[in-house]
Amino acid sequence: MVRADTILTGLDVAATLAEGDLPRRGKEMGELSLLEHPAVAISEGRIAWIGPRSRLRREVTLRKGGKRREFSGGTLLPGLIDAHTHLVFAGDRSGEVGRKILGESYLDIARIGGGLFRTVRETRKASEATLYRDALARLHRLLRWGTTSLEAKSGYGLNLASELKILRVIRKLAGATPAQIVPTFLGAHAIPPEHEKSREAYVNDLVRHQIPAVAQQGIARFCDVFCEEGFFTAEESRWILVAGKAAGLAAKIHADEFSSGGGSAVAAEVRAVSADHLLAVSETDIGQLARAGVIGVLLPLTPFASLAPGRSKGRELVDAGVPVALGSDLCPNSWVEGMPLVISHAVYSGHLTPAEALTAATVNAAVAIGLPEAGRLVPGARADLTVFDLPGPEHLGYRLTAPPPTEVFLAGQSLPHA
Ligand code: ZN
Repeated sequence: MVRADTILTGLDVAATLAEGDLPRRGKEMGELSLLEHPAVAISEGRIAWIGPRSRLRREVTLRKGGKRREFSGGTLLPGLIDAHTHLVFAGDRSGEVGRKILGESYLDIARIGGGLFRTVRETRKASEATLYRDALARLHRLLRWGTTSLEAKSGYGLNLASELKILRVIRKLAGATPAQIVPTFLGAHAIPPEHEKSREAYVNDLVRHQIPAVAQQGIARFCDVFCEEGFFTAEESRWILVAGKAAGLAAKIHADEFSSGGGSAVAAEVRAVSADHLLAVSETDIGQLARAGVIGVLLPLTPFASLAPGRSKGRELVDAGVPVALGSDLCPNSWVEGMPLVISHAVYSGHLTPAEALTAATVNAAVAIGLPEAGRLVPGARADLTVFDLPGPEHLGYRLTAPPPTEVFLAGQSLPHA
């Protein structure tokens, strides 16, 4: 008999994502491992048992003082996983939307000190307490929309002191809620304005000082670089990621977002865990990613928010055998505080099926951020669960705006309603 401290029953269906290799690719991306009329037993924050309701009485007992939750229908899913966020930043860029509408591009605005550089100026000036307060408010809204694990990048500091300040805020956020937050060092987000005429010096500073200091503090898990014309070249990106790996930081890369600049090839070469964006990825590069087993992280709302042409190449990547994951890209340029809208855009603009999009936002996103035990409903996993008032899991991708989950459990604890 399994002994449980919480039992959930009364649900119509669960997508457990239990079966298949990690990460999922090809046809396996469409397999959700459905369970009709499921029951779940939770013990000490972990899933102790999951199976059909009809077997519950024979296989599970509730500990004295344990809780039983009887739902009146609904769909049970793993907690959603956001594989790419820039959660910590100061201020906002609301004034730039109109300029983008009237014809200036993301890169035009950045070139004249706006966009990303504006956020860098404001983030450098902001106190740790202010950054923490603002990011915590965003984090609470993410949780309310069903995100239970996420990656969070630095990258608006662009010098060691400010990058460490952001990473400390991420660490504090991770301690403030039961959500799992995986920190990524993105000192190579851009060449800071003071190094505009000495870019080599900044790349040197990253490789010789920033990366070793960040690794030594144990304050980041991944090292990331923005490989793009006007940002970091493929050669610089390779150098930075190799230095990161040598210091113990696994590699991620912003690749082929606006142009096909060799980022995917670098990802394959250095065996990056993920290559993110991939709007302009070429067929050859897709083949390289597939062979190297690099996860393609799609951020389908980013071109939409940047008013850029093009769409996420979800279909092409899945058909070529690249494991695909999803991220919100939450940042001042694409302010997205939840995964359901990302999932529906992955369907309608990235051309994933609803089932593939759900796989990409759970199990594959978990692997992309180094949490392979998350994103599935299996015994032993942390009890991170969401319940949606929907007739089935595919409604999340089918509906352009699905409702927020009616219930979110983090490590077995129900998230209090705000
Ligand atoms: Zn990004």
